[in-house]
Parts: sequence; structure tokens; C-alpha cells
Amino acid sequence: MKPSPFDYLAVPRLDEAKAALSAGTAKLMAGNQSLGPMLNLRLTRPAAVVDVSLLPELRAVQEDADWVRLGAAVTHAEIEDGEVPDPTPGWLQAAAGNIAHRAVRNRGTLGGSLAHADPAADWCIVMTGLFATAVIEGPEGPRRVALEDFLTGPFATALRPGEILRAVEVPRPGEGARWGYWKFARQVGEFAKASAVVLIDPARGRSRCAVGALGRQPLVLPDPDSVIEGRRSPAEALRASLPESPPADLALHVAALARALAQAKEEAPTDARGDRT
Ligand SMILES: Cc1cc2nc3c(=O)[nH]c(=O)nc-3n(C[C@H](O)[C@H](O)[C@H](O)COP(=O)(O)OP(=O)(O)OC[C@H]3O[C@@H](n4cnc5c(N)ncnc54)[C@H](O)[C@@H]3O)c2cc1C
Repeated sequence: MKPSPFDYLAVPRLDEAKAALSAGTAKLMAGNQSLGPMLNLRLTRPAAVVDVSLLPELRAVQEDADWVRLGAAVTHAEIEDGEVPDPTPGWLQAAAGNIAHRAVRNRGTLGGSLAHADPAADWCIVMTGLFATAVIEGPEGPRRVALEDFLTGPFATALRPGEILRAVEVPRPGEGARWGYWKFARQVGEFAKASAVVLIDPARGRSRCAVGALGRQPLVLPDPDSVIEGRRSPAEALRASLPESPPADLALHVAALARALAQAKEEAPTDARGDRT
């Protein structure tokens, strides 16, 4: 199918993108890797498409002692290739390199992925696991939302009409922090069937276990330390949080969490794709 007709607007500044959105009939386009298929299938029929992929404000990268702020239009490939700073010891680079295929990564953006909020998307679970914050620009000015609150459901976010995801702020993990990310996909380049992250960061006093690809926003487990310290097994924790989950699905999510946990505890070395080495 072909999209219904729309105007294409390549705006040079963020203010103009905001103005173009104010009419309520335009849709933002970043890498066009998810929007393109939606337009072609006529799942969305905007009067105008506003290309934000080259906006300087969305391409900007800032660094601080405590965080790195990656512009929303930074591509998966730029993160994979280390062209932008990775606040972690290579965790973002490894995750980026495992998204789709290189052609998709060349165009697809961090912000587009989070704004699209596919439940199986890599950045949704990874950025939730890292305590990242969405930096949003809108008609009422800027605001910040923790990633676990930014993702509100399948393909649903806290973005209000007229708002643009400007950047994602990723805190630097503390000395000695450990991380596990496991993604089950049928084959390389596919979305996850189940995914999980584990962050153990005693220097910053925080830890997190989260599970993705649930058909909704990532699940952040309460009391992650009980799982990390072995007082609750991944199966016990997920059974308690996902009582309605079909057994086969639950088993895959439990396995993803167990493997992410083993990675973080360095019990089972894995490569970037999550395969055992
Ligand atoms: C074959 C294929 C395989 C894929 N496999 C994976 C995978 O394994 N893992 C994975 O995570 N992803 C995967 N993807 C998705 C890919 O990562 C996309 O890049 C991503 O979902 C969307 O990013 P984009 O920059 O292309 O956004 P676009 O397609 O341009 O936009 C997507 C949506 O976000 C909105 N949007 C874009 N930018 C902003 C912004 N700054 N503020 C507010 N709203 C915005 C748009 O209006 C649109 O609604 C795959 C895609 C393809 C085509």
C-alpha cells in the first residue's frame, strides 16, 4: 500500500517543529523505520510529516559528571559505533548493536524508538533498566519524566499533544556497577520475544530488575535486591508480578531474567547478543 498524501516538512529548528505540531494534524518523523510502515499501511494518516532527524537540538549530546544526555535523533548506529559517549562501560554500545539490522540502525533513532514504545523494543527495556530520564519539549515548556513513567503502555507514552522527545538522560553508573541484558529473539535482527535487564550499582545505591516484551510497558520488579541476593528466584518474582501470564510466556521471561541476572553477577559470560561464550 501507499501512504495517503501528506506534506513533508524539514524544519531547521525545534521551535518550528513545535509550531508545526501545534495544529494537531502533523506527525513527527525521525528515522522513519517505524513510521514508514505505519504510513504505508495507513495506520496513521497525518496531513503533514515533520522531519526532526537533523534538528540540531535533537542531535545534541551533552555530558556531565553524573550523566550523558543523548539527543533523541541520535541513531542506533551512532551509539553502536561509539560516535557518541556511552556513560556505561559499553552497555549501550552492545545493546545498540543488537537492534535489528545495520540498515535499520543507520536510520532508526533512540528517541523514535522510545516515542514509538513498541513493547519489544530494546531501548525501552534498556533505558528503563538504567534509570534514564526522558527530556521533553512542549507547548508548556520543558519537562522531565523517568523512563518507567514515560512508557505507559503498548505503543503509548506520557508525551502530550504537541510535545517532542528532545533527549534521553542516562545516569553514569557508579564504580563497580554490573549489568545484564538478555534478549530472546527468534533470529538476529528481530524484536525480542522476551527480554530482561539487571542493574547492580551499590556505589550509587540503586539496583533494578526489569522485564520487557510483555505486550505492554516494561515491568520494573519491586524489591529487586531480593532477586539479586537470591532470596527470591526469578520464577517466584515474575509469578508474583505477572499472575495472569500464560505458562509458556512466563517461562521465557523467567529464563531471560535468570540469564540477565547471571550476566550481571558474572556467573555466565555472554557475548553482546546474549549467546553464551
Ligand atoms: C525490520 C526492522 C526490524 C526492527 N527490529 C528492531 C529490534 O530488534 N529492536 C528494536 O528496538 N527496534 C527494532 N526496530 C525498530 C527500529 O528500532 C526503529 O528505529 C524505531 O522503532 C523507531 O525509530 P525511528 O527513529 O525510525 O522513528 P520513526 O519511525 O521516525 O518514528 C516512530 C514514532 O515515533 C514518533 N517520534 C519520532 N521521533 C520523535 C521525537 N523525537 N519525539 C516524539 N515523537 C517522535 C513518530 O511520530 C512516530 O510515531 C526494527 C525496525 C525494522 C524496520
